[in-house]
Amino acid sequence: MNIGVLALQGAFIEHEQMLGALGADSFEIRQRRDLDREFDGLIIPGGESTVMGKLLRELDLFDPVLERIKDGMPVFGTCAGLILLAKEIHEDDTVHLGTMDTVARRNAYGRQLGSFHTDAEFKGLGIVPMTFIRAPYIVSAGDDVEILATVDGKIVAARQDNQLVTAFHPELDSDLSIHWYFLDMVEKHSTKSA
Ligand code: GLN
Repeated sequence: MNIGVLALQGAFIEHEQMLGALGADSFEIRQRRDLDREFDGLIIPGGESTVMGKLLRELDLFDPVLERIKDGMPVFGTCAGLILLAKEIHEDDTVHLGTMDTVARRNAYGRQLGSFHTDAEFKGLGIVPMTFIRAPYIVSAGDDVEILATVDGKIVAARQDNQLVTAFHPELDSDLSIHWYFLDMVEKHSTKSA
C-alpha cells in the first residue's frame, strides 16, 4: 500500500512515520509530477489551510487532487486538511476542495484554548488521545457524514465515504489506531477496485 502525503507545508513527516510504523509505504507530494506515481490513498496534513489552499492552486495540484478524491481515492485530512475538504467554512466565503458535506469552523476554540490535549471516544476504536492545535471543529454535517468523535459536544472526527477527517492531530501522539483505521479504508477500497 502506498500513501501520498501532501507535503507543501505543515506536519507531514509525522504522518509518514505513523504510516511506516504500520508497514505502509508513503511518499511526499510536492509538485504536479509527484501525482504521476501510483498510490492508493492521500493524506492532507495539518498546517495553515489558507497557505495550503494557495499552494495547491499555484502548483497546479488543486484539480488533479480534487479529481482523485471525487473518483473515490481514500483521503485523510487532519486539522487544516479537515478545513480544505469542507464544503463550507463558517463565516468565510473561501472554499477549497469542498468535497465533504461539512461546515468547518477555523480556530474554533479561541485563543485561550488554542492548543490542548484530551482523550475521547472514537467510534469503533475506543478511547484515543487527541491533540488540538488551533483546531477547527465541524459545526454541522450532512446526512451522509458519519460522526466518529465529539469533544464537548463538538464534532472533531467524521467520515463520508472515502473521506476521513479529524480536527486533532493523531500523528502527534503515539497511538496508531486512527492511521490504522485509514489504512483499513484504503485496503477495502483497493480490494473493491481491483
Ligand atoms: N488554524 C489552522 C487553519 O485554520 C489549522 C491548524 C492546524 O492544522 N493545526 O488552517
